[in-house]
Amino acid sequence: MAKGNISVNSENIFPIIKKWLYSDKDIFLRELVSNGCDAITKLKKLSNIGEAKIGEDEKLRVDVIVDKEAKTITISDNGIGMTEEEIDKYITQIAFSGASDFLEKYKEENEKDGGIIGHFGLGFYSAFMPSTSVLIDSLSYKDGAKPAKWFCDGSMEYEMSEGERKERGTTITLFIAEDSKEFLEEFTLRQILNKYCSFLPVEVYLAVANNEENKENEEEQKPINDINPLWAKSPRDCTDEEYKEFYTKVFMDFNEPLFWIHLNVDFPFNLKGILYFPKLNHEFATNEGQIKLYNNQVFVADNVKEVIPEFLMLLKGTIDCPDLPLNVSRSFLQNDGYVKKISAHITKKVADKLCELFKKEREKFNTYWEDINMFIKYGCIRDEKFYDKVKDIMLYKDVDGNYITLTDYIGDKEDKTIYYVSNEAQQAQYVKMLKEQGINSVLLPAMIDSHFISFIESKENGVKFMRVDAKISDELTNGEEISEEKSNSIIEKFKKNLNDDALKISVKAFRDANIPAIMTLSEESRRMQEIYKSYGQQFAGMSGMFNDDYTLVLNTENGLIKKIDTMDEDMQKLVCEHIYDLAMLCNKPLGAESMTKFVERNNTILQKLI
Ligand code: ADP
Repeated sequence: MAKGNISVNSENIFPIIKKWLYSDKDIFLRELVSNGCDAITKLKKLSNIGEAKIGEDEKLRVDVIVDKEAKTITISDNGIGMTEEEIDKYITQIAFSGASDFLEKYKEENEKDGGIIGHFGLGFYSAFMPSTSVLIDSLSYKDGAKPAKWFCDGSMEYEMSEGERKERGTTITLFIAEDSKEFLEEFTLRQILNKYCSFLPVEVYLAVANNEENKENEEEQKPINDINPLWAKSPRDCTDEEYKEFYTKVFMDFNEPLFWIHLNVDFPFNLKGILYFPKLNHEFATNEGQIKLYNNQVFVADNVKEVIPEFLMLLKGTIDCPDLPLNVSRSFLQNDGYVKKISAHITKKVADKLCELFKKEREKFNTYWEDINMFIKYGCIRDEKFYDKVKDIMLYKDVDGNYITLTDYIGDKEDKTIYYVSNEAQQAQYVKMLKEQGINSVLLPAMIDSHFISFIESKENGVKFMRVDAKISDELTNGEEISEEKSNSIIEKFKKNLNDDALKISVKAFRDANIPAIMTLSEESRRMQEIYKSYGQQFAGMSGMFNDDYTLVLNTENGLIKKIDTMDEDMQKLVCEHIYDLAMLCNKPLGAESMTKFVERNNTILQKLI
């Protein structure tokens, strides 16, 4: 038996492994199971080039067996195995990476078939995270190799001896520590395996030791994973049904996705994956996206925002980047040019797909718009390159339910004002007035829309969004000039009767004589307020700095306004107050006090009818 010291740079590597390196303790299982898979993948490669033999009926697989009584978890594979020298080199001398050696030796083969090299790093040593000690028992595929055993109790010392193993492969036994007993539960292990190993390329089985049921069911035992995930197939060979089924299975979402993008890139980097556009039920459902990142079918993490552009997190999908290291720090990813390229590529693909849908299946694209607009708008604001790619396919739903582009709306008009509605019911009066003059309005009701329109204004020269109640546009008036004297006299009357000297009032001649007045609210000050409101508490005090910038616009064509001079004092007050409230009501709900007065006044008016 040989004894030795584990040669790592730091004397105290284990405490680091246990506490610092991995925040998720459960990844030890991912590391060891994927090592087993790698060993099998390597064996297959060697067998392909005639350097190793695989028995005809031999099933290549990884077995995870939990033994609650013995307090062990074993991870066994029938892959290439390791000789004593290899254990010494690859496990004991951490500095050497077996993978990099393998890469050197079989580089050519490797390049032809796509990578088989797994991740680099301290993978194996994560075995010590839940364990007091770890045993390796291995037999190499090499002719005449002797079985080798390696044992380490978590100190810096290990023992190496000849093993008894008869079959090719490796078994790692973890002696589970008292503080990690939860890993001895089958349920816990199954959960971890489902999380990380669902799509590993080699069949993985989980079993409980000494369990009679296991033995009986051996025939029917099913692997925990799907070794051929849909993303790894060529898009040409996938059916719609398969895409939908995969979506339901992976995301446990029983609503059908709207559509999907199958990413399949070989050059200049390797990237495969499927991105789904989910159907949304409400605005806030958009936050529930989930993008799972894989490395050679090994799950790495959800929503890694360095690799996947943040706005795409609103989607659901799986992305497999075999070239990304498994255990890397966030700061590394942030500064890595390669990662940035991946991210940019994904963005481009998404934009391309959207443009293709717009061009080839416009009707469908229209029906998707409600569900995808939030995501696209968010993407535009976040990433100008994305905006440049999709700006011509951005749709606006108008008040008649048509989906139109900005170009459709503006046409060849010089005035690039776009009228919009944020609350259809509340702003119905304004919409009606505009419509009667042949002016269309679009619906922009969501929270993101207020940011989005500011963004568009900053990008598109001359484009101006105007909420329907922001001003009385020239088209709504009949163009008649009203003398200052006349207008001052009406304004004075209203100020006096409303008992509000500060109220902004203007006088115009509307085309429509039926409406006595309209309340307008300046676009700029309203937007300013919305911004402060959307920042919440932080600026709560400041929103008060911007008073509602309302203007009461009186219509000189209306009979009531025309006759205001002829009314007695009481009637005049009643009419002024009522006109004010009606105008306000078309803009926002009345407050408690105003509402009470409004109802009282209505009753008074009804009384006068009898
Ligand atoms: P990595 O897998 O990133 O190279 P590990 O620490 O997980 O790092 O493993 C180091 C090396 O030990 C591997 O590259 C491989 O050569 C060898 N190894 C680990 N586990 C096995 C196994 N189950 N079968 C064969 N070789 C293994």
